[in-house]
Formats: sequence, C-alpha cells, structure tokens
Amino acid sequence: MKNIRLAALTEREKTVVRVDSVCIGEGFTVIAGPCSVESEEQTIETARAVKESGADALRGGAFKPRSSPYAFQGLGLKGLKILKRAKEETGLPIVTEVVDSRDIAWTCEYADMLQIGTRNMQNYSLLKEVGKTDRPVLLKRGMNSTIEEWLNCAEYILNEGNPNVVLCERGIRTFETYTRNTLDLSAIPVIRELTHLPIIIDPSHAVGKVSLVSQMCLAAVAAGADGIIVEVHIRPDEALSDRDQTMNPGQFCEMMKRVRPLHRFMDGLR
Ligand code: PEP
Ligand code: MN
Repeated sequence: MKNIRLAALTEREKTVVRVDSVCIGEGFTVIAGPCSVESEEQTIETARAVKESGADALRGGAFKPRSSPYAFQGLGLKGLKILKRAKEETGLPIVTEVVDSRDIAWTCEYADMLQIGTRNMQNYSLLKEVGKTDRPVLLKRGMNSTIEEWLNCAEYILNEGNPNVVLCERGIRTFETYTRNTLDLSAIPVIRELTHLPIIIDPSHAVGKVSLVSQMCLAAVAAGADGIIVEVHIRPDEALSDRDQTMNPGQFCEMMKRVRPLHRFMDGLR
C-alpha cells in the first residue's frame, strides 16, 4: 500500500479491543440484536433471546442513517435509554451507531461501543470526534470503499489517541443485485496481513436476505474473522428497518449451535 502511513499497519501484536466485559480479538465475538431500537419490550426481549443463545454483546440503532428521509429514523435518546435498560437486564454490552458528532457525548453515557456506519466511513470530522472518546469504535467499511480507504479512516480515529478500533466488513456494492451487497470475505485475510486490528463480519447487511445469513456467518468463522454482528428481532415481520435480513430468535439459536463448534474446530487447525 502506497501513500499510507498507518498506525494500523502490522508489526506489532494483534490488538485486543475491550468492550466492557468482552474482548474482541480474543476468541470469537458475537454481537446480535435488532437493526433499530423500536420499543423497550422489543429490545429487551430480543436481548434476552440472543443472550440465551450465547451472544456476547447487544446491537441496536437509536440513530438510524436511512436512505429515505421518510423511513423510521430511530428513537434517539429514548432509544439509548432503552439500550441501557437492556444491558441492566442481561449484562450484554451495548454497540450502537453514532451518525452525528453532536450525539457522541450522550451516546457515550449509554453505550459501550460506538459504531460508525458504512455511509459515514469517510465522515472525517465524525471519525476525529470518536477518536477523542474513550469508547471503542466499530468502523464499518464504506460500501464503495477500497481497503486502503477504509484503513485510512481507521487511521483518523487512531491518530486522535483512541487505539480501540475494530473493523467491520459489511458488504460492498458490485454489479450483483440478487444480494443487497457482495460480502468481501477476502477482506479478512487482507486485514490480518496488513494490520493488527480485529475484524468482524456483518453478513446481515451484506446479503440482505435472512435465508443466506447463517451460511455467511459460518464462512466468516472459517475465514478467520474475530467475530460477527448479526441482526435479530423478536418478531422480524414487524421490524421497522431491515426486516428481510433479520433473523428470528430460533434462526439465531440454530446458527449459534454451529458457530461455536466451528470456531473451536478452526482454532484446532491453526
Ligand atoms: C446497521 O448496522 O444497522 C447499519 C445501518 O449498517 P451499515 O452502516 O453497514 O449499513
Ligand atoms: Mn440494519
């Protein structure tokens, strides 16, 4: 990679990013939960269900970056408060997206990890602001971005003094239209080769169809990812966002029965 002077580049030991009680980069981390926080009941019931199946952390958006301004935009601060209650109920650390620098301070009061979404990967002022916090950051790959551009964005965060960055491959735009995006699984070994940062996979946004999510989760395990982030909703048919790609608790449970054993098997081969 030319034109790139990366603190993120390798030469040092692999970074383990601590998110409350969970260490990303050690073992295999499963983050699961709804696309959006819609209500206390929906969030807490989903949190309970994913915890029961072995999830390590809860995801859920309070601020939603929607392609249409007329789509559900999230509950905002009310959503953050619901996430906190879900943590109190289940003990699961909270991963949630920030879309605006003005929301960072209060999001830090309620969440354990800040997610930067694909649409904001190159929002440099937002990256610098999360780089000034003490919260770990989940940096999703821009849907139209190269790996070099992605790593430069990680660099913006690291340069502000926040070393706790986890990369997330969530699918990129290609000519294919059957799936919502194309999951670039080769990003896993590439990131391993180039950097010391952990990488997780988001198969839900990559494929956009629930019938395909489980297989891609297993593929992520086999390809050496540090974890996955998956959309699960207590009643996917009623979800206010991303319902077609969202698992129900039963589907998530079935998948988890395969994820952990496959990870143990792959670990044995390494
Ligand atoms: C999300 O995680 O719900 C989300 C909007 O993700 P992405 O930024 O990858 O589209
Ligand atoms: Mn979503």
